Amino acid sequence: MSRQSKIVKTSIIEIGVNLILVAFKASIGILTNSIAITLDAINNLTDALSSIITIIGTKLAGKAPDKNHPYGYGRIEYFSSIIVSAIVLWAGITALMESWPKIFTPDITNYTTISLIIIAVAVVVKFALGTYVKRVGEKINSQALVASGSDSYFDAILSLSTLVAAIISIFFHISLEGILGVIISIAIIKSSIDMIKETLNHMIGARIDSDLSNKIKSSICEVPGVYGAYDLSLHNYGPEDMIGSVHIEVDDTLTALDIHTLTRTIQGKIYSEFSIALTIGIYAKNDKYEDMRKELSEIVSSYEEILEIHGFLVLEEQNLVMFDIIVDFDADRQKVKEEILEKIKAKYPKFNYCIVDDYDISD
Ligand SMILES: [Zn+2]
Repeated sequence: MSRQSKIVKTSIIEIGVNLILVAFKASIGILTNSIAITLDAINNLTDALSSIITIIGTKLAGKAPDKNHPYGYGRIEYFSSIIVSAIVLWAGITALMESWPKIFTPDITNYTTISLIIIAVAVVVKFALGTYVKRVGEKINSQALVASGSDSYFDAILSLSTLVAAIISIFFHISLEGILGVIISIAIIKSSIDMIKETLNHMIGARIDSDLSNKIKSSICEVPGVYGAYDLSLHNYGPEDMIGSVHIEVDDTLTALDIHTLTRTIQGKIYSEFSIALTIGIYAKNDKYEDMRKELSEIVSSYEEILEIHGFLVLEEQNLVMFDIIVDFDADRQKVKEEILEKIKAKYPKFNYCIVDDYDISD
């Protein structure tokens, strides 16, 4: 089953379960004339709404690329995740506003057996649903599903606290509903803000997950003839589509034909392993000035803020030395670059130098 069908199927299950809960709670709420239960039914209705938004978002995001949107529509999923997280945030704020006054003026509630049973059933159903939806969401990397799964989960905890408060009030005649409600509401609000932040990070362009960048780089270095992989850059067009570029270091004796074959091999390998389309740039390597390279590494090693040095090459005829350094974002990049230049120039004065200060874009 495709990722899209999994999201749709999971959302339809969510809608079904929530609508059953709505029917169940609303009819009993109206029969027993309980506002709390009727309101709870309305809450379940908004949960069904967030699942509908997830389905619409997934369908729109799955549209095939066309002339005007050659990168596809995958980024639409970020919008649906934001909307679903915002619905969760709204639910948290509503719960907080309802619970807060109850700390000072507790409701004098007459819990009927039937209402307690309904709450208990809702706790079990919502807990199971939330666990299932969240697990699917994490597995297929769907933030919208994770958000609505967490929402169900929180509903279950909120209902459970109502149940605990009810039992305590029956036996001990004290009301804890307000305090429990406030604590849980704050947890809901915090979690929804975290979910919004995470999605925003993807939209802004976050650093590539360290695990992923290391895996891609080592996979590239497995290819014979590759001495190193650097400057890996990835851009996402939705949670499933990534394109990017990388630089590899190879022998300076390779021909265009060799490089053509080599880069095609790497592109194919990375695409089959990670579904990522990479563009590959080349650094040439020779060992003739190995001493200078070592000297440079020595100089660089005393700088904690220099994270990497690569692309070292000496062009004899032009008396030119080229290399890239990656300096930490927080350091004074220009100053570090100038100091390195000064130190290496002192050792090898006859050369001119071309230093590229790369950004620290991936691990
Ligand atoms: Zn570089």
